[in-house]
Amino acid sequence: MNQPPRRENRIFELLRVYHRSRENIRVLLDMSDMALYEKMGFIDAWQEEMAEFFAQNGYCFACNRLLDRCGCEEPLRPRAQRTSA
Ligand SMILES: [Zn+2]
Repeated sequence: MNQPPRRENRIFELLRVYHRSRENIRVLLDMSDMALYEKMGFIDAWQEEMAEFFAQNGYCFACNRLLDRCGCEEPLRPRAQRTSA
């Protein structure tokens, strides 16, 4: 954990994780007999997780820019402001 993160290249790694994860989710949902609304909820939760994962790595999930350069009006990070209970 000593070396500084190479942020410029990090996004490619994040996107690779994202695409692999999305493929897994798709296969999983294909095989499942969940109701449609359940699948939607599942995808919502997954997207939230991905958004948080991107944010934790310094990137915006919506525009794939560094959070510093993100110009999104509605950040896709509803859970980012969670308070420590
Ligand atoms: Zn953004």
